[in-house]
Amino acid sequence: MSAPIPYAEAVAEFEPVIGMEVHVELGTESKIFCGCPTAFGAPPNTQVCPVCLGLPGSMPVMNAMAIESTIRIGLALNCSIAEWCRMARKNYFYPDMPKDYQVSQYDEPLCVDGYLDVTVPTDDGPMVVRVGIERVHLEEDTGKLTHAGGATGRIHGADYSLVDYNRAGIPLVEIVTKPVTGTGALAPEVARAYVTELRDIMRGLGVSDVKMEEGSLRCDANVSLNLPGAEWGTRSETKNVNSLRSVERAVRSEIERQAGVLKSGGRVVQETRHFHEDTGVTTPGRSKEHAEDYRYFPEPDLVPIAPAREWVEELRRGLPEQPSVHRARLAQAWGIGDFEMATLVNAGVLELVEASVAAGVAPDAARKWWAGEFTRIANESGVEPASLAVTPADIARVEELIASGALNDKLARQVFEGVIAGEGTPDEVVAARGLAVVSDDGALLSAIDEALAAQPDVAEKIRGGKVQAAGAIVGAVMKATRGQADAGKVRELLLERLGVSDS
Ligand code: ADP
Ligand code: MG
Ligand code: ZN
Repeated sequence: MSAPIPYAEAVAEFEPVIGMEVHVELGTESKIFCGCPTAFGAPPNTQVCPVCLGLPGSMPVMNAMAIESTIRIGLALNCSIAEWCRMARKNYFYPDMPKDYQVSQYDEPLCVDGYLDVTVPTDDGPMVVRVGIERVHLEEDTGKLTHAGGATGRIHGADYSLVDYNRAGIPLVEIVTKPVTGTGALAPEVARAYVTELRDIMRGLGVSDVKMEEGSLRCDANVSLNLPGAEWGTRSETKNVNSLRSVERAVRSEIERQAGVLKSGGRVVQETRHFHEDTGVTTPGRSKEHAEDYRYFPEPDLVPIAPAREWVEELRRGLPEQPSVHRARLAQAWGIGDFEMATLVNAGVLELVEASVAAGVAPDAARKWWAGEFTRIANESGVEPASLAVTPADIARVEELIASGALNDKLARQVFEGVIAGEGTPDEVVAARGLAVVSDDGALLSAIDEALAAQPDVAEKIRGGKVQAAGAIVGAVMKATRGQADAGKVRELLLERLGVSDS
């Protein structure tokens, strides 16, 4: 096996092509072909019936809301909506699929040929990439297998497998992009920005709860590399990408791996691969060198779908504000430019900033905490910023304490560190850790006197009019008070003490 090549080298030599397949579970109340509920987390096999268990003789009936949601997704992605199409049977055997075929769509998808513009920040300002949408189609989800007894939770090495059909028959929309070229070194960021934007659109449409961690939004990332000017290379298809951050990491690691294979004279194999959150690398899955024959044919148990044009236009008129328009409005209200906005979106913190502002935090402060400190903490612990245990109300409270002079910036960081570590509310952390700005003049003055006594030469300089030298004493006092003093105040008291005026 050849070793991966460092990212910068890989993208200097090869051009990546990416393509995303995203599956979204619709949030309809009932399943696609029966009345079973779709709620997540119920005990296994309690939300099933003869239809979604594929029992002989049971007949499916199409869920109208599933069609409506699929069309609305297609419209939001600038697709053409089919005037007439059918569901198709995709035949294969797998234990998570009780009928031995999946009802999906094949050559007659409901929505085709759209696009989605995504923005990524670059050193030269925001870059807009138009991602072509090949198709948006509707299908049924499969059941869920749990492989028990092995170390990895995967089928290899497992003693036995359990199957839960609660998920079987949940309506699933698949959104497939056209190959995206010309993104160069930014390919991983573009992939992430695309999935982020798509998620926000789904959320805005209210068609799905789009929780990657619960699998209601699942993403497969296709990647290939080619030499400049050459034909596209062979793609791999990485599965198991369960967070926005992983989308970016998976594409990046595939680029490094494939570059290593190609550089050593090897051949990239067309296969699915699995992304491992812990190691950040992909491992091989199932080979796709030989196309399977699914013996697709039009589903005979369902009538064709022929959405009336008036209805489609009505759905188009009812679309919500596009996330990009919404963002433009926020950017204006917060007084920030495209670049700052793209940074927030890409860090996955826009909604968090929005929620914080709604809780009363000033926009600048909300941006500073989320795009700075919290993103850093999240990256360090390998989680999404949204999953940090800090709420908009916490930020509002800390900002209040800063404004009143009870905390300074440095102490505020420590408060958040405590809040995120689960030590309680900001007030509880302040009390438990004893974090408060020392504002008592007496305490500050004695610290100042000590610092002056320790550095008599500096004291002499200041007395002689060298006001710049005050910094050394202020620094010593801040250190002595473990950052709990207001530096401006210390300086003021110090100069007063020495009878020097600030110039
Ligand atoms: P499959 O069912 O085999 O996964 P799909 O047509 O559903 O095939 O999806 C293939 C995805 O791979 C699409 O998003 C497509 O744009 C993308 N793709 C196709 N060719 C390449 C390539 N050479 N490099 C990267 N991505 C590609
Ligand atoms: Mg696929
Ligand atoms: Zn059912």
